[in-house]
Amino acid sequence: MSKRYLVTGGAGFVGSHVVLALLDRGHEVVVFDNLSLGHRAAVPAAALLIEGDLADAKQVHQVLAQGPWDGVLHFAAISLVGESMKQPFRYLADNPGNGIRLIEACIQHRVKRFVLSSTAAVFGNAGGEPLTEQAVIDPGSPYGESKHMIERALRWADECFDLRSACLRYFNAAGADAKGRAGEDHSPETHLIPLVIDAALGRRPEIAVFGTDYPTPDGTCIRDYIHVADLADAHIRALGALDGRSVTYNLGTGRGNSVMEVIRSVKRVGGRKVPVRLEGRRAGDPAMLVAASGLIQSETGWRPHYTALDDIVRTAWAWREAHPHGYNALPVAVAA
Ligand code: UDP
Repeated sequence: MSKRYLVTGGAGFVGSHVVLALLDRGHEVVVFDNLSLGHRAAVPAAALLIEGDLADAKQVHQVLAQGPWDGVLHFAAISLVGESMKQPFRYLADNPGNGIRLIEACIQHRVKRFVLSSTAAVFGNAGGEPLTEQAVIDPGSPYGESKHMIERALRWADECFDLRSACLRYFNAAGADAKGRAGEDHSPETHLIPLVIDAALGRRPEIAVFGTDYPTPDGTCIRDYIHVADLADAHIRALGALDGRSVTYNLGTGRGNSVMEVIRSVKRVGGRKVPVRLEGRRAGDPAMLVAASGLIQSETGWRPHYTALDDIVRTAWAWREAHPHGYNALPVAVAA
């Protein structure tokens, strides 16, 4: 049955891929985005785009009043670990403030299902094992802390007002839509895979490797890179898991890859050289973050479709090669 969803941050990287997945399944989607980080052209024409800001309580209530909504999916946030170490109070004020404003409006307008785009950064410097949902919460950055604060607000929204929620803690979102309809376009770009691809394509002189003295086999940080379409599928399954309860799921492939392994993967996929410069550590980076995703698998049947790093990188390469200027070079999508 077709349902109707509100997606904040639907013009951003993960949000836009979730919007596509919802539309592909026949649902109706309204995107609420201030376009400060997202792109108008990332919102498919079949979705309605409402330009607005979560900082503005009046606007938030106006949008929620346009229900009924079968669910609200909340992606809109500032989300850079390194930036959050330089601007901690902006992260600690804005992400929870906007999140709680949205949650309150959802309660007021009788929304029953809420999905939060959360993060593995809630775990901080976690050690060597894949992380289950029971792992100790100890954010290594104000960014991770800010998302955990929204998770806590949702716990009380469930307890006090029966708003059921799914907190989805993504590990490293990567890749692009297999049909080429969406991809990753941050400005400035700070994420590893797109930057390595740019170095391979000669669009930047080199890739800087942040830290070679971590306690990992090759000394570089290990992350669990998960394809954005697998994340999108998980959101849809999580919405269905909220019958009378809230859930928290870790979302990754269970496979860790070091920065050096990512660079080698891009070389293989693109068949190009990648100039590398070794640098010191970036503040806030844990040595290793790998997900144990058994819970969402057993409770919803979710499985990552992209299990090999090269397959993830291949989709990212295709989109980045085809869009040297990201979404800017595309015709602007007209909202329905
Ligand atoms: N990284 C790097 N060089 C870069 C960008 C990132 O070595 O130019 C490293 C970063 O230190 C981390 C990993 O790549 O260990 C993934 O970083 P990214 O910013 O993509 O995601 P994060 O893990 O911060 O969410």
